Amino acid sequence: MLTLPERFEELFSRYFHRRCLKCSKSPSMPIICMFCGELLCLDDCCNGTRYDPYSNLKHTASEIEHHAESCSSSSGLFVSLTSSMIIVARGGRAAIWGTVYLDAHKEEDRNLKRGKPLYLCQTRLKWLEFDWAEQEWQRVYNWYSLQHQSSFINHIRECHTHH
Ligand SMILES: [Zn+2]
Ligand SMILES: [Zn+2]
Ligand SMILES: [Zn+2]
Repeated sequence: MLTLPERFEELFSRYFHRRCLKCSKSPSMPIICMFCGELLCLDDCCNGTRYDPYSNLKHTASEIEHHAESCSSSSGLFVSLTSSMIIVARGGRAAIWGTVYLDAHKEEDRNLKRGKPLYLCQTRLKWLEFDWAEQEWQRVYNWYSLQHQSSFINHIRECHTHH
């Protein structure tokens, strides 16, 4: 797994000016692969097609779906740079796992609303590593189909209120 920096701010500034290698844009929903550290788009700009040998049909596949397949061969794990949320992607579906970054009072700052410095929580990180190792996602509910990734994007943005 990617070694996450102690402060979320560091992760943010490390990627802030980078562009996606595929569409060369600075993603509006930037997410980072937790295995190789590549910056990816959650938007539909990097969608491709995927052939399903079972149904003999081609369907649209998001960049994270494609990436998870080639990078981690099972579930993909990503960090959303705009919200600090961890995203699990598996079998054409995605869900929010939660965050591994907490403020000094060990509280979450979902979607970085309060703008407080966030620090890597080793306990949460252990939970995440455990879930990944077991491929058990019991902490995760609300799986969204990546065929309709805009509803998943809205789900991430739900608590994204600007002040
Ligand atoms: Zn990767
Ligand atoms: Zn992209
Ligand atoms: Zn893109």
